Amino acid sequence: MTSDRHFVIVGGGLAAAKLAEALRDNDFDGSVTVIGAEEQLPYDRPPLSKEHLLGKKSLEDFTVNPGQW
Ligand SMILES: Cc1cc2nc3c(=O)[nH]c(=O)nc-3n(C[C@H](O)[C@H](O)[C@H](O)COP(=O)(O)OP(=O)(O)OC[C@H]3O[C@@H](n4cnc5c(N)ncnc54)[C@H](O)[C@@H]3O)c2cc1C
Repeated sequence: MTSDRHFVIVGGGLAAAKLAEALRDNDFDGSVTVIGAEEQLPYDRPPLSKEHLLGKKSLEDFTVNPGQW
């Protein structure tokens, strides 16, 4: 049975994405909503300056989880 609890995470960065993963890994089966100020899905920031600006990787390559997840 699915829980009717609802977890709201404010801030759509790496910590938010990892918290959402931890909730699922620890069997939280209620709703999870991530509220972020950016248009992008949560992504890992270090590759921005190390690979993205050099044209080696696109933002999708270091998005933490796909939208479907
Ligand atoms: C270019 C770059 C290179 C980096 N390289 C390294 C590295 O090599 N090694 C390293 O250890 N660290 C590096 N960092 C730092 C690392 O990326 C951060 O420590 C990490 O992103 C922190 O993650 P976070 O989720 O805690 O916060 P953030 O990534 O800052 O995410 C917070 C999110 O919350 C959103 N937000 C804030 N306030 C609100 C609000 N009121 N409502 C809605 N949304 C809100 C913000 O828009 C943001 O998306 C780098 C950072 C950058 C920018």
